Amino acid sequence: MDQQGITKQGNLKQPVATKQQALRMLETYFGYTSFRPAQEAPIASLLRNEDVIGIMPTGAGKSICFQIPALMMGGITLVISPLISLMKDQVASLNQAGVHAAYLNSSLTMGQYRKALAFAKEGRYKIIYVAPERLETAEFMDFAMSVDISMIAVDEAHCVSQWGQDFRPSYLKITEFVEYLPKRPVVSAFTATATKEVREDMIDILMLEDPEVVMTGYDRPNLFLAVQFPKNKYAALKAFIEEHPDQCGIVYCLTRKQVEENCALLEMDGFSVTRYHAGLTDQERRDNQDDFIYDRKQIMVATNAFGMGIDKSNVRFVVHYNMPKNLESYYQEVGRCARDGEPGECLLLYSGQDVITNQMFIENNRDNQELDELTRRIVIERDQERLKKMTYYCFTKECLRDYILRYF
Ligand code: ADP
Repeated sequence: MDQQGITKQGNLKQPVATKQQALRMLETYFGYTSFRPAQEAPIASLLRNEDVIGIMPTGAGKSICFQIPALMMGGITLVISPLISLMKDQVASLNQAGVHAAYLNSSLTMGQYRKALAFAKEGRYKIIYVAPERLETAEFMDFAMSVDISMIAVDEAHCVSQWGQDFRPSYLKITEFVEYLPKRPVVSAFTATATKEVREDMIDILMLEDPEVVMTGYDRPNLFLAVQFPKNKYAALKAFIEEHPDQCGIVYCLTRKQVEENCALLEMDGFSVTRYHAGLTDQERRDNQDDFIYDRKQIMVATNAFGMGIDKSNVRFVVHYNMPKNLESYYQEVGRCARDGEPGECLLLYSGQDVITNQMFIENNRDNQELDELTRRIVIERDQERLKKMTYYCFTKECLRDYILRYF
């Protein structure tokens, strides 16, 4: 890792800005007085126009790694992100900070999309979040050819890999898009979790050129991990919550139905609780999320739809009412616990039915439908392999933390 930061000179490319200038930007727009140690190297590399791959756990501050260079480069930065809700949140907070940013995804009407694209063409936005599906549309290509694109930042970059936990075929279009541009922008790729295979795929498939690889450790020593095999899961959940009075926590369930049921039961038992899943309206999701974030409700019962981009430091426990489909998801979800560095507890309630439900999800994964049959089978097999490793985790006799750290 480059410890000399942005001021490094010599045979390297001349940086477009100094570390002091980057720090000033950080303070002006985001109000922070220093970079976190893991942010310095990727920012330095990007400002020297060198590709970057950043593997940093949730909450480490990946966005700043590409947003600060984006502000200092001459042209536009395109941030490729698969998650509409995350795009909206990031763009809203950038605009609030005074950075001109916009997003282009399927949540916009055709009229709104054209208007945003026209503004983008006029150079009104420094940072544009875009869904990967947009890249291949004629309208977007036409726009991209007519402006100066300084950087492509690929968020959730593990989606490019068939080895990854959320493979998205549309991510494969990114390289083609980059090659089509008149001038190759610098490319950065970020993710929270990536095994060695995924890391290699990120470099190969995105055709990163001799990238600076920045990895921060996965260990979260302040998290206590446990697995139980209760006969009555709800009773175990209730007992656990009763042992943690006045503490905020998240209860993850595999299905919307279980979210509804557990939320209703906890409410009846007198707990301060709210819920979140993709079946609720946007408004209700936002309201419930705010109730949890601003401590109006103590417990959030949710599917895995909840948590991306959520920045709440005092979550004291994360209970998995069901075993998730893989360790990548599990570690990302427990990663939302105790971000303030104080102790946090993570409990997984295992049952054999969880394996069956996950197997069904894997078989019916709709993201796989546009794949050819052979690729679809390969993806399914890999997902099944990951599910197996997740199941072994629940049964291992060794230290759970060691198991996870070895997996990654
Ligand atoms: P990630 O995408 O890695 O999960 P985020 O980019 O959402 O993380 O950042 C997590 C939190 O850390 C955010 O609240 C962000 O504002 C904060 N943060 C990022 N960089 C810094 C910094 N240099 N100093 C203080 N807080 C920071």
